[in-house]
Amino acid sequence: MERFSALSLARKAIGGHLGWKPQWRSVEQPKKAYDIVIVGGGGHGLGAAYYLAKQHGLRNIAVVERGWLAGGNTARNTTIIRSNYLFDESSNYYEHSLKLWENLSQELNYNVMFSQRGCLMVAHTVHDVQVFKRHVHANRLNGIDNEWLTAEEAKEFCPPLNISPNIRYPVLGGALQRRAGTARHDAVAWGFARAASDMGVDIIENCEVTGITRAADGRVTGVETTKGPILAGKVAVSAAGHSSVVMEMAGIRLPLQSNPLQALVSEPVKPAFPTIVMSNTIHAYISQSDKGEMVIGAGTDSYVSYTQRGGLHIPAETLAAICELFPMFRRLRMMRSWGGITDNTPDRSPITAKTSVPGLYVNCGWGTGGFKATPGAANLFAWTIAKDEPHPINAPFTIERFRDGVMIDEAAAAAVAH
Ligand SMILES: Cc1cc2nc3c(=O)[nH]c(=O)nc-3n(C[C@H](O)[C@H](O)[C@H](O)COP(=O)(O)OP(=O)(O)OC[C@H]3O[C@@H](n4cnc5c(N)ncnc54)[C@H](O)[C@@H]3O)c2cc1C
Repeated sequence: MERFSALSLARKAIGGHLGWKPQWRSVEQPKKAYDIVIVGGGGHGLGAAYYLAKQHGLRNIAVVERGWLAGGNTARNTTIIRSNYLFDESSNYYEHSLKLWENLSQELNYNVMFSQRGCLMVAHTVHDVQVFKRHVHANRLNGIDNEWLTAEEAKEFCPPLNISPNIRYPVLGGALQRRAGTARHDAVAWGFARAASDMGVDIIENCEVTGITRAADGRVTGVETTKGPILAGKVAVSAAGHSSVVMEMAGIRLPLQSNPLQALVSEPVKPAFPTIVMSNTIHAYISQSDKGEMVIGAGTDSYVSYTQRGGLHIPAETLAAICELFPMFRRLRMMRSWGGITDNTPDRSPITAKTSVPGLYVNCGWGTGGFKATPGAANLFAWTIAKDEPHPINAPFTIERFRDGVMIDEAAAAAVAH
């Protein structure tokens, strides 16, 4: 694998950027059999393959992706990374991920452009204030940074913020996690793909899994795909919006609902926005990309759909609220909007677990907030697959918690979970 350094990049620049090689091997046809087949070539699936190879020495692995690498939610999200969730189980999981983000570019020798510019969650009602202060206290008890800012302090931190009391959604203060940030979404997938491929993992694009095969005793034996059957000792599903469809192939019904979530970007402008601002009440979140575009996330459509697009009224409402909170954006033109399919659990917390089918594992239910978890989920999913048991951090995130009533109810905690 070509190592990146200041010197190697300078050499390429002087040479007119000729001679770049593909960053990972493109495997057209899968082998007959692998030890592990991972379904879904998004950040989570590619990351799991990387950690299986790197930390557990398992290299006979295929990542099977029905479209193109990271064409799912990995490349459709607004890239907010934070760990300030309420419950101990969640904040442990997301903090595990945040710590991995902090060293990911070095670990992969690939710049994932992780930028720790902070995430300010603004409160508009007394209820918001109480909830966010509770988050601040809970996080600090767990050693996770989070602090409460008054409206004036919030404006000092983010000058474009309108803190006039005479607006529809007045800002009463905000919770700030300074270590939160954004990253370049597809770079994460490419970085994991490159490193995994270098260790022997086969990445097979345009290969849809159409069935999961099982032996007479119920154990998984492999997958059926549009490129033929593949035998596998273990099958690990990380298919985001399609998790319930894929798991149904093995007879497992998941407590998931698939809804479109939309985002949009503006025309590029000079650096104008220093942080990420989220408003759960309005259901809007905004940050500025390195290219200068304002990246804006809206809410989920309320209907179930697999169309990767949503209703126009959702971003329209988000934009109306954003113009009120940041009047300087009123004349900004929007360039593109798109949707992704999110897989939402009843408690808005994920599932990273082995299943009742021997040899079958699932990592799903990340809904509107799994980008931040990419390295953490991949790392813990790899552990679960390799050892056939969960890591203590993901042990509570089972399918059975919905049967047993042991929810990790971030939905109730935050009204929304990104
Ligand atoms: C608009 C939007 C904004 C978001 N904003 C944020 C945010 O700011 N912060 C945050 O943390 N999260 C955010 N999210 C959520 C986040 O994007 C996802 O939770 C996360 O990217 C999921 O990663 P993944 O690798 O599991 O999924 P994906 O990248 O979707 O990968 C799953 C892959 O599985 C493949 N697949 C599906 N079925 C099959 C099959 N049968 N055979 C083979 N392959 C299959 C798909 O093609 C897909 O490529 C947002 C999501 C959206 C849609």
